[in-house]
Amino acid sequence: MRTSQPQTIYLSDYKVPAYLVDTVDLRFELFEDGARVHSTLEVRRNPESGEVSAPLELDGDSLTLESVTLDGAELAEGDYEDRGDQLVVRSVPEQFSLTVVTWIEPQNNTRLEGLYKSSGMFCTQCEAEGFRCITFFPDRPDVMARFRTRIEANRDAYPVLLSNGNDVEKGELENGRHFVTWEDPFPKPCYLFALVAGDLVEKRDTFSTCSGRDIDLRMYVEPRNAEKCDHAMDSLKRSMRWDEEVYGREYDLDIFMIVAVDDFNMGAMENKGLNIFNSSCVLASQETATDMAFQRIEAIVAHEYFHNWSGNRVTCRDWFQLSLKEGFTVFRDSQFSADMGSPTVKRIEDVTLLRTAQFAEDGGPMAHPVRPASYMEISNFYTLTIYEKGAEVVRMIHTLLGPDMFRKGSDLYFERHDGQAVTTDDFVKAMEDASGRDLGQFRLWYEQAGTPVLNVSDDYDAGKGVYRLTIEQSIPDTPGQTNKKPQHIPFALGLLGKDGQPLALQLESGYSGAPMERVLELTEAVHTFEFHGVESRPVPSLLRHFSAPVRVRYNWTREQLLFLMSHDPDGFNRWDAGQRLAVDVIQSLVGAPDDTEIEPRLVEAYRKLISDADLDQALVAKMLQLPSEAYLIELSENADVPAIHRARDAVLRHLAGALKGELLACYQRHQGSGPYEITPEAIARRSLRNTALAWLLLINDEDGRTLAVSQLNDADNMTDRMGALRALVNSGFEADRQQALDDFYDRFQDDPQVVEQWFSVQAASDQAGQLSDIRKLLEHPAFDWKNPNKIRSVVGAFAGQNLAAFHNPDGSGYEFLADQVCRLDDSNPQIAARLVTPLTRWRKFAFAYSAQMKSALERIRDKSGLSRDVYEVVHKSLAE
Ligand SMILES: [Zn+2]
Repeated sequence: MRTSQPQTIYLSDYKVPAYLVDTVDLRFELFEDGARVHSTLEVRRNPESGEVSAPLELDGDSLTLESVTLDGAELAEGDYEDRGDQLVVRSVPEQFSLTVVTWIEPQNNTRLEGLYKSSGMFCTQCEAEGFRCITFFPDRPDVMARFRTRIEANRDAYPVLLSNGNDVEKGELENGRHFVTWEDPFPKPCYLFALVAGDLVEKRDTFSTCSGRDIDLRMYVEPRNAEKCDHAMDSLKRSMRWDEEVYGREYDLDIFMIVAVDDFNMGAMENKGLNIFNSSCVLASQETATDMAFQRIEAIVAHEYFHNWSGNRVTCRDWFQLSLKEGFTVFRDSQFSADMGSPTVKRIEDVTLLRTAQFAEDGGPMAHPVRPASYMEISNFYTLTIYEKGAEVVRMIHTLLGPDMFRKGSDLYFERHDGQAVTTDDFVKAMEDASGRDLGQFRLWYEQAGTPVLNVSDDYDAGKGVYRLTIEQSIPDTPGQTNKKPQHIPFALGLLGKDGQPLALQLESGYSGAPMERVLELTEAVHTFEFHGVESRPVPSLLRHFSAPVRVRYNWTREQLLFLMSHDPDGFNRWDAGQRLAVDVIQSLVGAPDDTEIEPRLVEAYRKLISDADLDQALVAKMLQLPSEAYLIELSENADVPAIHRARDAVLRHLAGALKGELLACYQRHQGSGPYEITPEAIARRSLRNTALAWLLLINDEDGRTLAVSQLNDADNMTDRMGALRALVNSGFEADRQQALDDFYDRFQDDPQVVEQWFSVQAASDQAGQLSDIRKLLEHPAFDWKNPNKIRSVVGAFAGQNLAAFHNPDGSGYEFLADQVCRLDDSNPQIAARLVTPLTRWRKFAFAYSAQMKSALERIRDKSGLSRDVYEVVHKSLAE
């Protein structure tokens, strides 16, 4: 049951809990028509709370209450109040034992919060507020308790029964039923509770920790997926070792378990000792998963594992502090991925996501600080700002302190707060105390929303040999926040001389031995820096490694960008210079006549990139990707998407046509030989080959077509097979496209994860993904409205990636999305609220589009019985 009038919850209203729970004893009786949950809590008044006569208030959602027992005596109905979303017991002693019995219906739970069924198995998702859908409980992260969980179910249907911690007892029951009891010795908030019951196969391995303890590693999957576990298991072991070496963190339980579940709202969940994963984020084999999927799986397995310390051992005091665990853990997993592969490529990927999607969020109606001050529905705050910008904020602390001091800070943080529920302030305080640095002004990164803008200007005094750089910062207004204060920004830079050599950065005259790269610290609205001993006008390399999540505005000439593309020693800025140049060229074509000349120097720069086998091929593979339409939209005001699409397409086609010979040579040069490997070199090789193929097919090249068809049929891995399929789908070869799609489906129809890729390659294609095609996909027998992955792979891919079709000037794309959001709002409001995002950006677009987007939003707003999740997003985006 949801309250009809969504309430806003404020950080400033935070109060410590009136009651603490020391232990939770759970007994689950699982049946086909429902589940009975017996929960016994050992409760005591919180000595820190001033509210000595407060009633006991437990949260609940969609529960049928059967009985309440206090210290062994069953309460009569007048002794408590069942408000649906709360169970209130007015008079309780200082310390007591409370048993609550509830009945729930997991088989009818389509929201996928709490306990539900997926492909015949029972599983849970309790973060953020799912535990209240299982039983009445103080559902807030600062109530930490020790859990003991007994699960009872039919042995044949559910041979595997799992929960957090260690299994301490098991046995047979009457009527073909059995039970297992689990005990978790570590106190935890209820959002980390997990339960799984199903017919699953087990894959085992072991890990020996730095102190010599052997940990039992187990993966549980459906029998058909038994061969897809190796990569996740290897990733887990690498993560465990890395966390010991880099952060000094050892695993604490005797068992670590991972379960793969098909129907899951999120990517994965870090429940203590029992991580539950969306199948698409954990299962992989060479034949069914792309390189990108392999890398994503490694990163997500690491992320969830790292939470065991940053999230579980030290958790959040309240949900406003979500970035305490998410920002820090995303930073940790990105460090890990950088160490496992190419650091420059990893940085490029992270920044691409940040600049495209997080900057858009920061500039839109849902903009919020890394530590929000209010929310209606916490599920709406699992955002790129909390995760990605939160990780950038931690990265900046790392940059300001340096790796050694940062490690001291993280050690102090874990030591000081082990077993506690704390705040982002506590995290920053530990960093300050360990390093002696003052991060007072830095804390504004947690409090102020919006992406800072740095306007950079420069001048050169040839007579004195002085180069002067002026940096002015401003932070745009965001909903509820104006007149923001300057933030503390680490700004890494270098200067390049005429010959492309890096120059020493002398901030005072007459001083020698200065470094070639510096991190300037910006704290004021305006700073001017003078560099001495500069013999000719340098080319600045600004914000190296993207040292802060800001927008840099500087009047680069195309000449300078070309120079940086080939000379900047910072790989990230080399890539970025290429992106800026391509953006400049594409933007100059938006709305221009068809015969406008396309910058010949861009063609030559790309020719050099494709042909030069001595360059770092992983970086080249990234540099060849033109800026996405989404990024181009993010950079524009009053965006006209079809015009942007046409301009970008024209550049792509022009490049492909001019470089046809080089593309064919590049394809041949990177032909695979030898066994499939997941190394940065092999990944780069496949990426380059598939980029070459995609470009050739974009201009309907016959040679490319022959190559694509044979690659599609002969590939020994999904990266190449998918590369060929995508190229054919986006080409004008209509007969080949249909043939390729049909063959592919025939081959993989029994594998849901591959079918999801098959859906999304069509939904995201401007050739195969017109609205009528999308409607056909929704009617396809493999499509399932109850499965979030399928919804994302069709509806999400269409609205998020097939931008020209979604922004059809007739408004049909918007109406379509509004229909699907309304449809999903009843069954799965979390997914509905995420799906609506593209419409919420309506102010970004030219009037012809924005007016229609707005009216689609208004239609959603007017739906009766709108969920709190969708209500919040839609109302905020329509607010003035
Ligand atoms: Zn996380």
